[in-house]
Amino acid sequence: MWFFNSPEIVFGEGSLSYLEQLEGKRAFIVTDAVITRLGHTARVKEALRAAGFDVAVFDGVEPDPSIETARAGAALMAEFQPDWIVGLGGGSSLDAAKAMWVLYERPDVDPENLNPIEKLGLRRKARFLAIPTTSGTGSEATWTIVVTNVAERRKLGLGSREVMPDVAILDPSFVMSMPPRVTADTGMDALTHAIEGFTCQWHNDFSDGLCLRAAQLVFEYLLRAYRDGSDLEARTKVHHAATIAGLGSGNGAASLAHGMGHALESVFHVPHGRAASLFLPYTIEFCAQGARGDAAGAAGSTRYGDLARFLGLPCATEKEAAASLAAAVRQLQLALDQPRTILACNISHQDLDRELKQLMALACNDHFTSASTRIPDDGEMRRLFDYAYGGKSIDF
Ligand SMILES: [Zn+2]
Repeated sequence: MWFFNSPEIVFGEGSLSYLEQLEGKRAFIVTDAVITRLGHTARVKEALRAAGFDVAVFDGVEPDPSIETARAGAALMAEFQPDWIVGLGGGSSLDAAKAMWVLYERPDVDPENLNPIEKLGLRRKARFLAIPTTSGTGSEATWTIVVTNVAERRKLGLGSREVMPDVAILDPSFVMSMPPRVTADTGMDALTHAIEGFTCQWHNDFSDGLCLRAAQLVFEYLLRAYRDGSDLEARTKVHHAATIAGLGSGNGAASLAHGMGHALESVFHVPHGRAASLFLPYTIEFCAQGARGDAAGAAGSTRYGDLARFLGLPCATEKEAAASLAAAVRQLQLALDQPRTILACNISHQDLDRELKQLMALACNDHFTSASTRIPDDGEMRRLFDYAYGGKSIDF
């Protein structure tokens, strides 16, 4: 038994005006200081006030939000008693807002113990609306929450299907001022969700089409959005791609590049999208080399074959399909000036060696790693990190 979940998605120019129809009395906005400085918080606040809401704002979400931040926000919610929670920002703000929502409704729950099976009984107090201001994490359309256990330098991927936002507003005006580096990092995160969602073990008929279209949109429009942030069409398409990829991978799974990316983010604080997408070509090659059964031969009906064919890449065999897909990802990374190796993230070999054990443990235990079609053992994980360090090809 499995499920497909989605928020109501409001998209296109002017979609913020959806707030005029929102029914309720008290709205609590969760965001960060940068978003407030950009004027986005004030816009949302005004729109909510015009719709008759009392509004409170928490704009203290930090990058890689901690459980402590979630508790602090939930305590303010307990005082204000909102009936709508509005997550406004990138993945960090949306995830922090989701965690606060859980703790507001269920202060008795330990967020570390959230799981997709246990019923939480959310929405007795509030519903959740997400307004993303980056185009990448897809958090506005997933039921996962990534928060950090600061003491243990660990990213926690928590999940409950009830945490799926009720509404996601994709108004392109919120992403027009996104800086090029953030555009590239988050856009590549969306591509990683799309490709991993399509090729992981938990892909399914409901998520497949979404992943294919999202990958195609990123390949077609991300470079344009990166080079010219004022290109409304490109911005809009990449914004849609991010949510579509979030729906695709959120209703399937991310995979090994995310497992390794989470490890690199936790230890070296590389931004999420940059870290996960850095590993993508390496993990594509690794998975294709170990493909089981017919996947090793003709690419007639295999995952990399299907994906490469859809994207118009060479795909006579599964290995050729994987190689051309990895090459297309590397080409896009190059055009976007993204680091393509761990070394290019300004991490020295000494630092990598010192942290390798921790990185391997985190990557091996990350739950997305278990969704991979080929799960690396310790030796293979070490070789994968080595390969990604300098990019020198290694035989798996
Ligand atoms: Zn991601």
